[in-house]
Amino acid sequence: MASIFSRIVAGEIPSYKVAEDDNYYAFLDINPVAQGHTLVIPKREVDYIFDLTDDELAGLMLFAKRVAAAIKAAIPCKKVGVTVLGLEVPHAHVHLVPLNKESDMSFGGDKLSLPAEQMQDICRRISEQFK
Ligand code: 5GP
Repeated sequence: MASIFSRIVAGEIPSYKVAEDDNYYAFLDINPVAQGHTLVIPKREVDYIFDLTDDELAGLMLFAKRVAAAIKAAIPCKKVGVTVLGLEVPHAHVHLVPLNKESDMSFGGDKLSLPAEQMQDICRRISEQFK
């Protein structure tokens, strides 16, 4: 059965899409650790990020770099942090999180649940900055 993220790419499950190209897809994390928390995935379903081919991994990180630039332009922050966990969803993904302080990157604590209008607004602001 396809992963939940493959179903998002296929449009079977809705997402706040920030950007996509032929091989990669970026969308807001549904339970962000900070406003603007974005996931970047390869469209090809592979569980463990280091099982991607060298080209796929490089392409994923280069695509994430462009998404991070868009986040940085759209969301007030000092830097955009990068994390790979992958313990919950078995489809490789990179977390991009706007950082103002170290604890903004904390995955062990409470997560946010933002109203749909706010998620839409954040999504629009980031996607408008994507180049
Ligand atoms: P991880 O696998 O990296 O430990 O965590 C998976 C991440 O995916 C979590 O931050 C969780 O909030 C997010 N997530 C899980 N299911 C969905 C979903 O259906 N849609 C979106 N946008 N994010 C999800």
